[in-house]
Amino acid sequence: MSKTDVLMTAPMMPIVIEALDEAFNLHRLWEHEDREQYLSEIGPRIRGVATSTLYGRMDAALFERLPNLEIVSSFGVGYDNVDVTEAAGRSIIVTNTPDVLNDEVADLTLGLLLATLRKIPQADRYLREGRWLEAPFPLSPTLRQRKIGIVGLGRIGKAIAKRLEGFDVSIAYHGRTRQEGVAYAYHPTLVGLAEACDVLVVITPGGASTKHLVNADVLKALGPNGVLINVARGSVVDERALIEALRSRTILTAGLDVYEDEPRVPQELIEMEQVVLLPHIASGSVHTRNAMGQLVADNLIAWFEGRGPLTPVSETPWNGLTKS
Ligand code: NDP
Repeated sequence: MSKTDVLMTAPMMPIVIEALDEAFNLHRLWEHEDREQYLSEIGPRIRGVATSTLYGRMDAALFERLPNLEIVSSFGVGYDNVDVTEAAGRSIIVTNTPDVLNDEVADLTLGLLLATLRKIPQADRYLREGRWLEAPFPLSPTLRQRKIGIVGLGRIGKAIAKRLEGFDVSIAYHGRTRQEGVAYAYHPTLVGLAEACDVLVVITPGGASTKHLVNADVLKALGPNGVLINVARGSVVDERALIEALRSRTILTAGLDVYEDEPRVPQELIEMEQVVLLPHIASGSVHTRNAMGQLVADNLIAWFEGRGPLTPVSETPWNGLTKS
């Protein structure tokens, strides 16, 4: 029996390529200079796609070239790279890689929060530059007695909250809905949460519904002792408003893992000594990226073995019937 044709849009980790090579007839789009020509040749045969949040969009134009597509397996828990409305309209299942990265992202978030408040990267630079020989490192702000507001108390938000409990700080949250059985204070508006807290940790999905959720008004409400930590998506924070708020000391500082136009980071942020900037690494350990990669492959394998998708996104729920 001939193997099912699956398309990979950009190079993924060896663990994914090896698993898909074994199970399917894997087509590597990025290896072809004339992609349009290549898609014309193989497009109608393609029944599955492996893609990543990091590379390009899966949109109507691409779906149009793949008329027999059944499933898109996307690397990453965020899937703002895939037009899920368009996929749903075409009965294409979209899967992501939730849960396997919760702990890693939460660990990194705590690291970024502490690094930002206690100026860990700045202190490291200070020592290396030989400045400790001249004077002790200046005293830093603190996490002590802070009120932390989590914007998006989902799978990862809850893992962050669990860790924060060990730090004896107060925790509150904002989302579109109050959650049953959650003891943290709920704020129906983000400005309300920002007013009540002096740290905001942003961990919502990206995409149109959260674009610039954190705007100038929210930053003003956070106040001059306020700290913004963004590990969600760059689009969730109005970057221009953030730069202005940092410049004018409307807020104290920020720790960022994500940006509006990655991998380009505004020069204004790079030049600000008080902020801590990471290159989108929250899930980026070998252990966790391998687990995410395995789930990309497992979703495709499960689907084409007729077992259904393992982790379909909410916009393309599985009705129990496979097309296979
Ligand atoms: P979940 O779907 O479990 O949680 C998302 C949370 O966001 C929910 O609590 C939801 O609450 C809230 N939310 C959604 N839309 C809005 C909105 N418009 N306004 C306010 N709150 C909103 O997702 P995960 O916890 O698994 O992942 C969250 C996101 O983290 C991912 O989508 C991704 O963008 C980002 N991420 C970033 C990583 C990095 O490398 N920096 C790594 C992994 C994830 P409600 O429905 O009540 O509004």
